[in-house]
Amino acid sequence: MGEKMTIHEVVEQRLRQYLIANGMRQTKERFAILRAVYDLEGTFRIEDMEQTMQNRRFRVSRATLYSTIQVLVQANLLIRHPFSSASAMYERIVDDRPRSYQICNNCHHITRIKSKDLAVGLDSYRPRSFTISHRVVYVYGICAKCNRALRKQYKHALATKKDT
Ligand SMILES: [Zn+2]
Repeated sequence: MGEKMTIHEVVEQRLRQYLIANGMRQTKERFAILRAVYDLEGTFRIEDMEQTMQNRRFRVSRATLYSTIQVLVQANLLIRHPFSSASAMYERIVDDRPRSYQICNNCHHITRIKSKDLAVGLDSYRPRSFTISHRVVYVYGICAKCNRALRKQYKHALATKKDT
């Protein structure tokens, strides 16, 4: 095996192994969705994936899409971000490099943090009796946009209070 496998080949092999190990069928849909997931960079919602499959003229029901996404999460091929927004956000697991995100408590907007210190800290954590699949850190707070809006709201509330 001199040639290096592409990311698609690597994840297809991983999915195949997972499906065999769990006695699940290797359907065309599952592999097509996996391919689409790994073509997407950054976070996505189920609706985005539905659009992607439509653009590719690949017919897949919403139920199949949902169940396949769950399979990919369980197979450690996809992160389900634990955000409190209405629809869940997903992201492919490309490598085992640590990732960090900041999330706004108010609008649930998510941005990737590119902090070397955080990455180095996370990378140095290597437990003995625990096999890490991926390393993710979330930092919660209020984004600048919401901060401005909330301040405005507060000022307005103070002003109307004075009037009465
Ligand atoms: Zn916000």
